[in-house]
Amino acid sequence: MANHGVIEQSAGSLRQLAETGQEVIGYIYPHTPLELILAHGMVPSLLRAVPGVPSGYEASLQTFACSYVRNLYSLREDDQAGPLAGILFPSNTCDSLQNVSDVWTVRFPDDRLLRLTYPVSYGDPDTDAAIEFLTEEIRLLSDRIGSYFNRRFSLQAFERAVAMVNQFRDAARFIYAARAAQPDVIAYSQVARLIRSFLTAPTVSSVSDVHNTMNDIRNSLDDSGILTSVEEIQQALEARSLPATPIEPLGEGPRILVAGGMVEPESISALVNGIPSVTDTIIVVDLLSFGFKSVFTRNIDSTEDPFRQMAASILSAPGEPTQEGLRGRVRFLTDLARYLRIDGVIIFEQSFCDPDQFEAPSIEHSCREAQVRTTRVPIDPELSDRARMEVRIQSFLESLEEGGGRTR
Ligand code: SF4
Repeated sequence: MANHGVIEQSAGSLRQLAETGQEVIGYIYPHTPLELILAHGMVPSLLRAVPGVPSGYEASLQTFACSYVRNLYSLREDDQAGPLAGILFPSNTCDSLQNVSDVWTVRFPDDRLLRLTYPVSYGDPDTDAAIEFLTEEIRLLSDRIGSYFNRRFSLQAFERAVAMVNQFRDAARFIYAARAAQPDVIAYSQVARLIRSFLTAPTVSSVSDVHNTMNDIRNSLDDSGILTSVEEIQQALEARSLPATPIEPLGEGPRILVAGGMVEPESISALVNGIPSVTDTIIVVDLLSFGFKSVFTRNIDSTEDPFRQMAASILSAPGEPTQEGLRGRVRFLTDLARYLRIDGVIIFEQSFCDPDQFEAPSIEHSCREAQVRTTRVPIDPELSDRARMEVRIQSFLESLEEGGGRTR
């Protein structure tokens, strides 16, 4: 499905939810406590940037707002943000998000805006004070949702939400591990669509789609005899403890890792599939906020205080460029490249995203030391420089074929 078809599908899911009387809270930052919103009887929906929206930001946003939030702001200006009961903004993440949320408050005073403040520092999620801080912030958010929308937190609804989100993550992680072992087992575009459908509308139906796909893949891998390897890869990725011995993947190269922050996996697959003679089978794994980092957030599985559980889960997610911990993130990326026998890394940077642009040189440096080739590709929701991006990716792939990639 082309990118515009996918976007229309997302908008359709949102409309369907509204038509069935569901109240939707849109969110922007990937590490949002979905279970909390569901426990209040509402539906969290990841807002999506849409190409071709008339620009409305010039009069309001400073130039340092990134292309992603500019697009979202323009969507709101153009009344295309969808039927939302409220919008959840993060605090303490990046200047762009802080800026757009401040401007939004003034320009759209009738919108019901919520805020979740994230801790500055991240550490051991089991012991760090960050967990205490985020627990109380989530509790405050819960109070605000309760009073704004007159919907109380329900423990039963929370438990149902936890079961559903965990089922999604378990299935999606298996699919990620299967593609790492054999990328042609399912197109990356299909994985991206499944994950996006869930993040747009986390419902029983969207989880079933992911689960059924996982079962189909599991059956096909059982026949090919690599199921055990896939399960080992899944365990290693979940624990983020990667064995010293690299995997023995199946299929043709080159094997590409896609790195970046708040970039849509669907945009990446549409871009790659648009390049002549290239398919997204080359993408072995992504390290994107709305892909790997959402999927490999730790499940909630204890019977402790729900708010503490949600905080611990969020803080367990693979790190973002908006957070501390650059060294650890870069080390994980290069370890992953070694473990999955990656030939090259494509670093996608959201245009005007300071965190992405700050992180990219460190990734390049580390990959160079690990003898993995990289290229940097600025991207925006419009794919406005698409021809140039395609040429850059194509040249990069050719350079790998000529023997510049990692020696297997
Ligand atoms: S893309 Fe970058 S600058 Fe934009 S909201 Fe995300 S982290 Fe902030």
